[in-house]
Amino acid sequence: MFIKRYITGPIEVNTYLVADEETKDAIIIDLGGSWDEIKRDAGNLGFKINYILLTHGHFDHILGIAQMQKTENIPVLMNEKDMVYIENLPLMLSHFRINSDVTSIKVDKFIDETSELKVGNYPVKILSTPGHTPGGQSYIIDGNLFCGDSLFRHSVGRTDLKGGSHAELINSIKTKLFILPPSTPVYPGHVDFTTIEDEIENNIFVR
Ligand SMILES: [Zn+2]
Repeated sequence: MFIKRYITGPIEVNTYLVADEETKDAIIIDLGGSWDEIKRDAGNLGFKINYILLTHGHFDHILGIAQMQKTENIPVLMNEKDMVYIENLPLMLSHFRINSDVTSIKVDKFIDETSELKVGNYPVKILSTPGHTPGGQSYIIDGNLFCGDSLFRHSVGRTDLKGGSHAELINSIKTKLFILPPSTPVYPGHVDFTTIEDEIENNIFVR
């Protein structure tokens, strides 16, 4: 499994290009920006980007989708409960004083824990992990966890924004993420990579 991280957009989101190197099928997880660079890389590697998977609807994880949608129509998949953030995108941007000409993006398909997705030959397991946002989802592909802003290295996502719930977030982490194999690599929505084992031992926000 091919995984490359890009740090994108005004709030340094981790954007991931994930691919089955055998079939050349690829997806992008969260697209904060840098669309041209990621598209070029995918092209150079012979990858075809099948769809874009969003961990949640916050503006910093989606701004690059507007760039992509100027010229292409790659399907964007997300949980329906986070549409409130997409519908209020200009409000969110002004709240965070982000200068952007993006006013909206198009979401093509709603997905939840019952949806079946693949990247080439790898199934995508969808976990509902609300708390940072109501429609927050984590994805497991080939034993790798992509958890958006639910869990960070030795920290957790903020829950003070509209729709956030600290109790719900901690419950999601305990019941959905901390039951995964300890060696599971964790690819969060911002900053450093970690593992489930490291977080169980050292994350003081989850006790
Ligand atoms: Zn977020």
